[in-house]
Amino acid sequence: MKITVVGAGVSGLTTGIRLLEEGWNVKIMTENMSPNTVSDTAAAWWYPFLAEPIEKTNRWSSETFNELLRLKNIEGVDCITLRKGREYLEEKCGRPGWSFEIPYFRILEKEEVIEGYTFGWEMEAPVIEMNLYMPWLLSKFEDLGGVFELKKFNSIEEVPGKFIVNCTGIGARIMSEDETVIPVRGQVIYIEQDPGFGRFDQQPETLTYTIPRRDVTVLGGTAQKGDWDPNIRENDTEYILSKCEALWPELDRTKIVGQAVGLRPSRYEVRLEKENIDSRTIIHNYGHGGAGVTLSWGCADEVVRLLKNQ
Ligand SMILES: Cc1cc2nc3c(=O)[nH]c(=O)nc-3n(C[C@H](O)[C@H](O)[C@H](O)COP(=O)(O)OP(=O)(O)OC[C@H]3O[C@@H](n4cnc5c(N)ncnc54)[C@H](O)[C@@H]3O)c2cc1C
Repeated sequence: MKITVVGAGVSGLTTGIRLLEEGWNVKIMTENMSPNTVSDTAAAWWYPFLAEPIEKTNRWSSETFNELLRLKNIEGVDCITLRKGREYLEEKCGRPGWSFEIPYFRILEKEEVIEGYTFGWEMEAPVIEMNLYMPWLLSKFEDLGGVFELKKFNSIEEVPGKFIVNCTGIGARIMSEDETVIPVRGQVIYIEQDPGFGRFDQQPETLTYTIPRRDVTVLGGTAQKGDWDPNIRENDTEYILSKCEALWPELDRTKIVGQAVGLRPSRYEVRLEKENIDSRTIIHNYGHGGAGVTLSWGCADEVVRLLKNQ
């Protein structure tokens, strides 16, 4: 079977790899490739943030968690590390569904919760260094026999082939005329300082994170709905730093080494479904919001299942 995947972000590459592993013939056609995709700016901490529907995203996340561990432990992909992180909340709440699927998760003791919050938990999860992981995905795809072509489409009808997988992220607004996909702008700061463990406030209104990678810690964030600005904004830099300093007072501003902006492809729910147009089969795999890396392998496996059940 010959399959055309449109898009070379984390969704397109991961899907392409899974399809090749099934023995299918795969070509990725895309406007941009790494390092010029949204996926390259992902922080990237495993966490199902801003992604619905929960019953599906919980399953796709936990499948991805296990695959990331397998890649790290069995295939030796060393840009995936396991780190501890503490999430702080203003109000007590029940354990999130995904927390039952991961090996290490505990509720914080009262004295471990920092000022301004009343509740929290600690978890251990993969941190993915996208600056290394995206090139690794690209070469894995090519090693398995996949090919790329740079091409921008104006609609799904223009894409050649009988079997097509649409992994265009925010581009699905044009490709599928889907105006329910909207940008949620994220700005991040890179700092050469390790906080020991990650610190998080994952509420979209107050979003704050410090994600420790081996080279830098990624500080965030912003979640600005409907904002298409790709430029770094000084006021956002200050806003992020002041929020991070509240969670991590030792933060040293002199160690900042860079910044980036990306537009999360947000949708009321991930669109992962089959559509038949004339005699062609299209599988849509977009709208992963703030969790495209976290959902990637689970969604790729779902694409394979949908294509097998023709
Ligand atoms: C600041 C920030 C921090 C984040 N942190 C995390 C995190 O910690 N954990 C996590 O899991 N996720 C995180 N995310 C979310 C994650 O980055 C996205 O969900 C993910 O990158 C989406 O991947 P994608 O492959 O669907 O889209 P993209 O990476 O945007 O790829 C889309 C691809 O489609 C191509 N394309 C689009 N339109 C067309 C067209 N018309 N014709 C041809 N090609 C086209 C593009 O060129 C591109 O190659 C973060 C995002 C941001 C911005």
